[in-house]
Amino acid sequence: MPNTVLTVSQSELLKMQDYYKRSLKANPPQGAVFAAKAPTYSVTAYKSGKVLFQGKDGETEAAKWGTADAKRTVKAAASSADLPQNIATMSLIGTDEVGTGDYFGPITVVAAYVKKEQIPLLKELGVKDSKHLTDETIVKIARGLIQTIPYSLLTLPNEKYNEKQAQGWSQGKIKAVLHNQAILHLLKKMNPEKPEGVLIDQFAEKQVYYRHIQNEKMIYCQNVYFSTKAEGIHLAVASASIIARYAFIKAMDQLSEKAGFTIPKGAGAKVDQAAAKLIRKFGEEELHTFAKVHFANTQKAKKLI
Ligand code: MN
Repeated sequence: MPNTVLTVSQSELLKMQDYYKRSLKANPPQGAVFAAKAPTYSVTAYKSGKVLFQGKDGETEAAKWGTADAKRTVKAAASSADLPQNIATMSLIGTDEVGTGDYFGPITVVAAYVKKEQIPLLKELGVKDSKHLTDETIVKIARGLIQTIPYSLLTLPNEKYNEKQAQGWSQGKIKAVLHNQAILHLLKKMNPEKPEGVLIDQFAEKQVYYRHIQNEKMIYCQNVYFSTKAEGIHLAVASASIIARYAFIKAMDQLSEKAGFTIPKGAGAKVDQAAAKLIRKFGEEELHTFAKVHFANTQKAKKLI
C-alpha cells in the first residue's frame, strides 16, 4: 500500500482532526495526535506535524491538504511549466514579500503592476532580481519605481503578527492573506485597467494558497500564476520585491531609532544579543512591538540575560 507523508502546521493538524472527527480511532498509536480510519484510506497524525496517509485512496486524500514531502521539491521545480510562454512580456501584477525570515521587523507585502511597454524603462531604472542588490541600491531604485508604477504595499506590524501567530495562523496563511489583499487593493487603484495576469512569487503550493484564503471575503483567482524565483521571470515581481524591501528597510530604521541602537536583520546570534539588550532596556513585553516573538531567538535572548 502506498504511503504519503505531509508536514503541516499545528493549526492545520487541529483542522484535520476536526475534519476527520467522524472516523477517529479510539486508540491512536504511541506519539500520535489522532488516527482516523475510512474504508479506503487511513490517516495518522503525529505531534511533529507529520501526517501519514495510507491505503488505496491515501494519496488522493493527502492531496486535499498539501503536497507530499518527497514530491515538494520536484513540484516546485516543475511549477514554472504551467506559465504562459510569453509571460516575461505580458502586462502583469507581480507580488512578493519581505521580512518573514527576520526576527525583527514587520512583514511587508507588495503587489506591483508593470505594463509590457514599461519593461524597457524599468530596466533603465535598474530593476532586477533584488537578491543581487545592496540596501543602498534598493532604496535608490525603489524611489524611482514608486513614482513610475501603480503598487499596493501592506505592512504587518509585529504586534499584529504576534497576535495572528498566537491565534494559530501559520506564516503561510499570513502571507497568503496579505498577497490576496495586496492584489485586490492594487486592482482597485488601477481600475478600469486590468492586468493580463498575476504572478505570485511562490511560497506555497497553489492549492495550499487557496486553502489559506478560503475564508476571505474576496479571493482573486483570475489568471493567477505561481512560480518560485519569479523575480527573475517578470519585472513586476522584481519591482514588488524591491518596493517590499525598501519598506522593510525603512521600518527597520524606525525600529532602530525607537531602540536607540541598530536593530540587526536575519535571525542569527547578533539578533539574540539585540533581543537581550531590548529586554533589559524596555522589558520583555515590549519585545512584541519589535520582533516575531515565536522565533527561537526569544528563548536564546532570555538565556543570555
Ligand atoms: Mn519571495
